Formats: sequence, C-alpha cells, structure tokens
Amino acid sequence: MPGTFCLKSCPNRWIDVTRYCLLAALLWSFSSLINAAELAIIIDDVGYNATAGQQLVELNHAVTLAVLPFTPHGKKLANSGARYGKEIMLHAPMSATRPDYADKHMLTGSMSNSQLQALLKRMLAEVPHARGINNHMGSQLTRETGAMHALMHVLADRQLYFIDSRTTDKTVALDTARENGLPAMKRDVFLDNRREKTAITRQVQQAIQLAQRQGYAVAIGHPYPETIAVLKQLDALLADTGVTVVPASQLIAQHAPAATYLPKPLPLALCAAPPLLLWRTDAELNRLWQDQQHRSRLKKLFYPDIVTQFER
Ligand SMILES: [Zn+2]
Repeated sequence: MPGTFCLKSCPNRWIDVTRYCLLAALLWSFSSLINAAELAIIIDDVGYNATAGQQLVELNHAVTLAVLPFTPHGKKLANSGARYGKEIMLHAPMSATRPDYADKHMLTGSMSNSQLQALLKRMLAEVPHARGINNHMGSQLTRETGAMHALMHVLADRQLYFIDSRTTDKTVALDTARENGLPAMKRDVFLDNRREKTAITRQVQQAIQLAQRQGYAVAIGHPYPETIAVLKQLDALLADTGVTVVPASQLIAQHAPAATYLPKPLPLALCAAPPLLLWRTDAELNRLWQDQQHRSRLKKLFYPDIVTQFER
C-alpha cells in the first residue's frame, strides 16, 4: 500500500501542509482586520423635495443619494450631489404587491424583457452620474427571476452595481445580480420606518454595531427632516466606533467581490489544495514508479522516503 505508506512515512510533507494551512488561516483573518468597518448610508427617494435634497448633498459625510427618475428635482440634485462629491445611484421604481403602491414610470412584471430594459435605460438617462441602482418598492418585481435577469443584463453591460433594498423576503434580486457577475449587496437596516429622531438614532446605532460585527453594513433612509437631523449628528454617533461612512461603491468593492462571491469555501479550498495536489492513489504511485522519467523526479523531489523503501 504505497499510498498509506507515504502518509505514515512522510512526516515532513504533513508539517508543510500544516504550516500552509496555518498561514492561509492567518492571512484570511488579517485581511478582515485590514479593512476597517465601513457603513454605507443610502438615502432613497431623492428628487421630489429640492430643499431636503440639497441638505443631503451638503452633508459632510459620504452618504449615497439614490435619485428617483422623472421627478421635478432628480436630475438637478444628481448633478449637484456629484459636484459635492456624493455618490449617486438610480432609485429604480419597481412594481409592488400592493396595487396602491404604484408609480407612473415603473418596471413591472407585465412588461416584456425588452420593454423592461428600454425603461431601465430611460431611467438611467434621467439620473446622471449613477454608479449603481437599488429598487424603489419592488416587493413584486424583485421576486420575478426572468425580469430581474433582463434588468441585470443592462446593469452588467454598463458596469453598474446593484443593491437589493429588500422590500420583500422573497426577493431574488441579489442572487440574480450575482449570477450576472454584478457587484451587489443587500440592505441591512432601514433607518426611518419610524419617523422619530430617537428611533432613527437607534437604527443608526444598530447599523454601526452591525458594521463593527461583520466589517460592513448597508443602511437605507429617506429625505425626512427627522432623518436629516440625525444624519447631521453622525460625527457624534460614529465617534470611537471605528466605523467610517463610505459610498456604496466603495463598500461593495471592499466587501462584496471576494468576501461575498467567494465566501467560506475559499479558506477551505486553500487548506485542501496542498493535500489534494500531493495525494496519489496506489495505482498512480505504481504507474509513476514504473515510469522511468518520473522515477528520478520522484526520487529527488517528492517521495524520498518511499524511494528508499522501495529500493531496499
Ligand atoms: Zn423608495
């Protein structure tokens, strides 16, 4: 049983494998320490209220503005936000399960794929500087896989990212985005489901704590006066937390591609690779042994112990 024999008689090889595993595990844990905790705060529904929009544009933290298309001030606020260094997203209206949640320009499941794609392109044209999109409403459309694929193709072509607002737990939007190779994430916390300053402050603190725990978090709020008032106190809320507010694209670039597309299997694969590469079945070993070309190489490089045993 040369294979078994090798396992027992090549202690050096197993020491190498163990070292390799430890190094891989160390590198993996360091990589998460190097990235400081980051929080993306996306403000949806920007476009109807010029004053609120401008207050958000002028905030001294890197909040991301998700602008509704076909709104009175959307285009102007997108341009203004970009001038102030704010990241701009398209906040794309999508159909909801509740019929009273509707929008004049809305992506719906009753449209053909080409209609969906054409409307999305018109929406994108309405929001200059958009680096990515998230869904406005969408509790119906985000569960429709075919429609989601059609939309993601457009985003992939334009190298835009996608954030699933998660307005339903039945959403397939995030999975579909990733299947299409898009940088993508999901919303973790809604900041202002309750429009009260204390409640919103608590939600911001919850988002900060989540960022500390998992290294990142995505929070979504709205241009309400209460929300803006809390955001103006972000410095105090972030103090000594080690969390920084970053544009959504930065959060995704740091935490979504490697961390999310190649999750836990990566360190496992790193650990499994050396033993798998080194492993030889008995038949393979015999074949290799009989092959003179391999014999000298084996002797020198791989199995000096076996070689000695066989030759004896
Ligand atoms: Zn919205």
